Amino acid sequence: MPHILIVEDEAAIADTLVYALQGEGFTTTWLTLGQAAVEHQRRTPADLIILDIGLPDISGFEACKQLRRFSEVPVMFLSARDGELDRVVGLEIGADDYVVKPFSPREVTARVRAILKRMAPRAESPSPTAGHFLIDTDRMLIRYRGQPLNLTRHEFRLLQCLLKQPQRVFSREQLLDAVGVPSDAGYERSIDSHIKSVRAKLRVIEAEAEQIQTHRGLGYSFSPDRS
Ligand code: CA
Repeated sequence: MPHILIVEDEAAIADTLVYALQGEGFTTTWLTLGQAAVEHQRRTPADLIILDIGLPDISGFEACKQLRRFSEVPVMFLSARDGELDRVVGLEIGADDYVVKPFSPREVTARVRAILKRMAPRAESPSPTAGHFLIDTDRMLIRYRGQPLNLTRHEFRLLQCLLKQPQRVFSREQLLDAVGVPSDAGYERSIDSHIKSVRAKLRVIEAEAEQIQTHRGLGYSFSPDRS
């Protein structure tokens, strides 16, 4: 089972995470200091690190920067501040996800699973093309008819999921899972707006684009262009 390193100086929060993650079958290590976490990862690499931003010694941002000098381990930040700037900074210095306190432990474990799932198939998808689409997983970029689509992270994951299995009908719940959002949080309808936005972006490139089909009461599927 994947091993998760939790770096959090508040014992109550760390306990909640340890309990939730172990309940899902993960093994865990809990540390309270950023520098210790960096050293720990150097000696005994975890599969994913949950990293608080406000730590007593160095900040989570600084710890992440140090980690990135020798490791590509997925990092999920925990933050007490709900700021767009933090999010952007976090993603820029190489974090994979970002959760704002207070969070539900289920949300965190769902995201951990989603990140690990995203990491896993990377090596085994040699031909990431479907129809007129080209998926560049490393750069989180999808090209349509040679042109890069300006997608949000959620839209990228959503379209990537559909493209990988043409003609398969995905339920909203399955698509939320692909996006990395827990399906029990009442976000199912947000898939509809993501789909709407992706369709609009495709139509900018090809006015007749109709690749994403709606299946009433079921969900969505992808069909490659015929020409
Ligand atoms: Ca803290």
